[in-house]
Amino acid sequence: MADLTIPDELKPADGRFGSGPSKVRPEALRRLAEVGDELLGTSHRKPRVKDQVRRLQDGLGELFSLPADHEVLLTLGGATAFWDAAAFGLVERRARHYVFGEFSSKFAKATAAAPWLESPELIEAEFGEVPGVVPTTDADVQALTHNETSTGVMQHIERVDEALVLVDATSGAAGLPFDPNQADAYYFSLQKGLASEGGLTVALLSPAAVERIERIAASDRYIPTFLDLATALDNSRKHQTYNTPSVSSVFLAAEQVDWLNETFGGLEGVVETQRAKADHVYGWAGQRDWASPFVTDPAHRSLVIATIDIDEAVSADEINAVLRANGILDTDAYRKLGRNQLRIAMFPAVDQSDLEAYTACVDWVVERLG
Ligand SMILES: *Cc1c(COP(=O)(O)O)cnc(C)c1O
Repeated sequence: MADLTIPDELKPADGRFGSGPSKVRPEALRRLAEVGDELLGTSHRKPRVKDQVRRLQDGLGELFSLPADHEVLLTLGGATAFWDAAAFGLVERRARHYVFGEFSSKFAKATAAAPWLESPELIEAEFGEVPGVVPTTDADVQALTHNETSTGVMQHIERVDEALVLVDATSGAAGLPFDPNQADAYYFSLQKGLASEGGLTVALLSPAAVERIERIAASDRYIPTFLDLATALDNSRKHQTYNTPSVSSVFLAAEQVDWLNETFGGLEGVVETQRAKADHVYGWAGQRDWASPFVTDPAHRSLVIATIDIDEAVSADEINAVLRANGILDTDAYRKLGRNQLRIAMFPAVDQSDLEAYTACVDWVVERLG
């Protein structure tokens, strides 16, 4: 079956539809090749590289219309390391987690495993759904997930009480609507919506989050230096990282953020095009009798990751195998979800015309497999 050859005129210009790592814009890669020999292999404590860190920080401030008293922290390790850093440096006594997929459950496991914290409070939903955010009287952190990458469900970010609001925005950042006043730490890796590569983490911090970080760091709690957010913050203020970053990743993320600001004039403009892309993909699935959106409530369907269930008569694995053989990549369902499903990234770097080509290619393949 995999030797089916999709006609070239149907194929997308760029075949990268993976949910992470995801498409890096070719224009950004070309820019990196142009400036690379002045930047890569030079000191991250010197102005050339620090200017790129500052450019990323300033660009993010503009994209998110960040209030002047918020700070942009940059550190190493990706979102997975940030969960541990948060367990050390942001959760005072007990966290409340909203668990509705693989990634939200992983942060809950991190705070559950921390012997210096009380067992977390969990609010869970079936995969494909999302729990509403409700006040807590017994936790000092509300842990939310802007986009559950494993299921294609988005969570509305809102502050409902005094607890610090920590938001894993790894796949949601730069693609979903967001009001920075509703969160205290909005953190994300750079290899998804930011169209860069893995290994770095950004966190947008409110003054309350900074106060918490500094207070816990000054207490007698043991914090490994690599995971110490106070150290990371201190370095970020100097446009550096505590240990050596991937300079190309910083550069690619800064290119993406500048491109988003220049092309769409900020987050609202980006979100508008995200809605158009999502309307296309979910609308397409709704019109096929062998496909349907996995997330039943349209209000919770992600604008950055579409999960599309496929009728049992057709195997999503076979569809993906044919697509892959034709250079159209990585639209497999999340492994542990175990569904006959296509999972399609619609991140800001992915063009609407390519998503239209993608769905046309799936139609072409299903016609021949079915
Ligand atoms: C990909 C992802 C992560 C993990 O990111 P790493 O950079 O691999 O640590 C965490 N949370 C969400 C929502 C993700 O999509």
